[in-house]
Order: sequence, then C-alpha cells, then structure tokens
Amino acid sequence: MRLEEVLPAHRAGKDVRRKKWNGRDRLLGGKPGCPGETLFIEDVLADDWEVVEPKHKACPFCGGEAKVLRSDDGWSSVGCIGCGVSTNVQLTTEEAWAAWDRRSP
Ligand SMILES: [Zn+2]
Repeated sequence: MRLEEVLPAHRAGKDVRRKKWNGRDRLLGGKPGCPGETLFIEDVLADDWEVVEPKHKACPFCGGEAKVLRSDDGWSSVGCIGCGVSTNVQLTTEEAWAAWDRRSP
C-alpha cells in the first residue's frame, strides 16, 4: 500500500512498516516504542507499506500495552504497563500470553 493509504492507521496508533527495506523491517516512527526514523523521498513514493496487526491484545481495561512479567521462580504472567492488571502466573510465557489474550473486562 502507498504511505498515504496507511497513514490513518499510523495516526490511530497502529504499527505501520515498510516491507523489507535494506533487508530489515522499517517501521514508521513517531509513536512511543517506535524508533523515530527519518522518512526519505523513496519511502514516500514506495508502495510496499503495510499495517502490522499487533500479535497480542491490548489491555481490555485501559487499552495499554502488555508485557511479560516473569517471576523469580521462572513462572510467567503478562500484565499491562498502563494500569498494572495481569494474568495469573502460568508455567510458560506462551501460556501467559494465551491467558492474556483470553482476558475480557
Ligand atoms: Zn491496562
């Protein structure tokens, strides 16, 4: 897609990236957690931009970003960096993410 087609998604807070730029993914910067990269004229003219759907759900309570919180004994839980809600501890990180993605308010 052309950059101007994916810009509304970027402004709505979604990750927008250019497929394979110099052998690596190139994210459109400008939001927290994104490297603020300079857009070159070839980026603006390129037609290989895409909206990247997040791998995991946002917090069902505040919409914040989730991250793994690993406890000392190796068990895992996933919690929101915005409001602090988290899953019960799970045996593996994969199970913690699965539990997180099943959460609803
Ligand atoms: Zn939250």
